[in-house]
Amino acid sequence: MVYVADDKRYDNMRYNRCGNSGLKLPAISLGLWQNFGGVDNYENGREMITRAFDLGITHFDLANNYGPPAGSAEELFGKVLANDMYPYRDEIVTSTKAGYNMWPGPYGEWGSRKYMLASLDQSLKRLGLDYVDIYYSHRPDPETPLEETMQALDYAVRSGKALYIGLSNYNAEQTAEALSILKSLGTPLLIHQPSYSMLDRWIEGGLQDVLEHSGVGSIAFTPLAEGLLTNKYLNGIPEGSRAAKPSAALNESRITPEVQRRIRALNQLAVSRGQSLAQFALAWTLRGGKVTSALIGASRVDQIEENIAALTNPDFSPEELERIETILKT
Ligand code: NDP
Repeated sequence: MVYVADDKRYDNMRYNRCGNSGLKLPAISLGLWQNFGGVDNYENGREMITRAFDLGITHFDLANNYGPPAGSAEELFGKVLANDMYPYRDEIVTSTKAGYNMWPGPYGEWGSRKYMLASLDQSLKRLGLDYVDIYYSHRPDPETPLEETMQALDYAVRSGKALYIGLSNYNAEQTAEALSILKSLGTPLLIHQPSYSMLDRWIEGGLQDVLEHSGVGSIAFTPLAEGLLTNKYLNGIPEGSRAAKPSAALNESRITPEVQRRIRALNQLAVSRGQSLAQFALAWTLRGGKVTSALIGASRVDQIEENIAALTNPDFSPEELERIETILKT
């Protein structure tokens, strides 16, 4: 059946300005790292993407290596775009990245101009697009001069293959240095994509200050700590969950009794606010307006529906914030 987007898709989503740029992003975006690969069910992926769009999620995040196999998440998204969503292309912000291992030999990973620009061409082919909205350096390269990686990003924009550029997994110092190079090149940095959640707060202070000071937006990946900050692992590891899968990033060793004690206490607080733990965790990530968008993953449509409802109860009292700090310290 031909997909027709919901007329009410813009009614309930909040759109936040990305730093000092002209671009707004939905407060919640959808990432295709897991569950959208060639090994996954196409129909389920398609349903999640179209339902997300119906709920106001206009931003979909990819990378060259998402799958498995690597590249297949871009192919899946390209197929959904071509078959269902092409009429809405100008309502969609698509991002992709290069940095991790994609093909054999010395030009298949990291941050050389050779790799960054070849990978972008490959991504565009898989996505079936003329340009991506945001192109990221996925990780800093300790061997390539930062100037070269930034020049490649700058060229991606100047050649019309990307509208904006981003950095992911760069620390505060690397980001500050990249910003000064990009300033001299004349291409602004739109966004930084770091990990950030109640269980992973490395960006507070350093990186967040650099971004705020320079008018750069941020999109927090794994805001649910890959599912730990949902009601999924409160009583063990359910079958079919990410932690139960052999190849996934989240493994059993991270679900320690200490973590479980914390997530149970956080869950009690969430329930007292009338939220699920996932909604509570997303509202916390977005608190205070420093994070432009929370970048969630999902394996089912109902998770996206539940998570978006986080936006109906976004504010925390000082007492609640203090209670959270106490729980996270114990
Ligand atoms: P999350 O922290 O949002 O975890 C998503 C997982 O949590 C889902 O796959 C699902 O797991 C579970 N989940 C989500 N909602 C619910 C719910 N309501 N109830 C129960 N379980 C739920 O993010 P991801 O780890 O998936 O990462 C999100 C995106 O961030 C990626 O797709 C990617 O775009 C980006 N990313 C970027 C990185 C980078 O280096 N730049 C690195 C990692 C991610 P289950 O499958 O068990 O159901």
